[in-house]
Amino acid sequence: MSEQTERQGMSPGRRVVVVGAGMAGVQTAVALREQGFSGPLTLIGAEPHQPYDRPPLSKAILLGKAEGSALDIDFETLGIELLLGREALGVRPDDHELDTEAGPVPYDVLVLATGAEPVRLPGAEGVPGVHLLRTLDDAERLRPVLARQHAIVVVGAGWIGAEFATAAREAGCSVTVVEAADRPLAEALPAEVTAPMTAWYADSGAALRTHARVERVEPGAVVLDDGARLPADAVVVGVGARPATGWLAGCGIELGAHGEIVADAHLRTSAPDVYAVGDCASFPSGRYGERLLVHHWDNALQGPRAVAATILGEADVVYDPVPYFWSEQFGRFVQYAGHHASADTLLWRGEPAAAAWTVCWLREDRLVALLAVGRPRDLAQGRRLIESGARVDPGVLADPARPLKEAVV
Ligand code: FAD
Repeated sequence: MSEQTERQGMSPGRRVVVVGAGMAGVQTAVALREQGFSGPLTLIGAEPHQPYDRPPLSKAILLGKAEGSALDIDFETLGIELLLGREALGVRPDDHELDTEAGPVPYDVLVLATGAEPVRLPGAEGVPGVHLLRTLDDAERLRPVLARQHAIVVVGAGWIGAEFATAAREAGCSVTVVEAADRPLAEALPAEVTAPMTAWYADSGAALRTHARVERVEPGAVVLDDGARLPADAVVVGVGARPATGWLAGCGIELGAHGEIVADAHLRTSAPDVYAVGDCASFPSGRYGERLLVHHWDNALQGPRAVAATILGEADVVYDPVPYFWSEQFGRFVQYAGHHASADTLLWRGEPAAAAWTVCWLREDRLVALLAVGRPRDLAQGRRLIESGARVDPGVLADPARPLKEAVV
């Protein structure tokens, strides 16, 4: 028995099963070993591929600049049993059993890390040339589409739509992005902030059509509800993602309004000995006073460390991060830290027309979020300011010539 496991009160003979072999599942298994758990540990994933990282799928991999993004982890040496190509079908919490397509798997502790799946466009499924972008298989199907420099219609001007459009333009495709809202990223950012980002589409040579609702997709065309018919050799649907939890229906584990697993501040679910982490779960944020459902990479990296510590008996581990993500679009490095609400005060740091700028959100003299375009130092310093909860001077924040860290009062 490892000394640490013994000290932390988790019997080494207890079996931990992790479902979902994406970033969150893999990092949970690794964190358990790093934190001293020496008992049986099984990682089960539906995809047949060696676990891989998703962000490169909409960037280097699409352009053939990288072959794959397999995570560099030696599961065998870590003593992690990896069962790939195996879908979990349900959980029976009373029996402490997970049902999979290859039969039941008993557990003492179960971690749910099944991530998210893309929202599909009604009526588009099965139409030739229609693609999603979530998995390695999706990216590999899209790579030759880009290489053939096809005319592509992208449905949805969100993060994935923007990144895909960037890659497709770089490959020389003609790209039209259709967005039902009045602007890109309408759900994530206010109009004042998305205004300069809207111009990036035209600058890159991509046509952006807002207020554009797709009525139907036909082979070779997308038809909008105003009758416009957009020729498309390929259609890429990027209209959001939802937690991959359909398989948990009826299992008695509480799900929220978006289908997400409702976890507590320690990432425990409503079922005993069952935890949830990553894109599939929401958690209560004490920092922001609301429940957060985060669909970003950093959450799938940080959450596992907290969940592993809780499993190993550290009762005081509360998961309350400052969320962080980045996006690479139209030649810009866009980073966001924190969480803002519409009532928070927005403050510009730099001119929106400039190549690099930052916006900050303040709540009662404290920084709660910031978006930095091409200003990674702002992001790093701002993230620390948010974490510290320090009072800040808005005058200093608004001056792009002064380091953000000098804003502390
Ligand atoms: P996932 O990565 O979705 O992994 C879950 C795994 O569980 C999947 O392999 C799935 O097959 C498996 N699974 C699902 N159901 C079952 C089941 N019933 N049984 C067994 N296995 C199952 N974030 C950023 O911050 N910056 C970026 O630039 C960025 N780029 C991205 C680009 C793309 C194309 C995509 C798709 C996402 C991007 N993200 C980015 C988001 C980030 O990748 C995700 O937040 C992260 O992958 C979430 O990890 P996860 O392990 O929770 O879920």
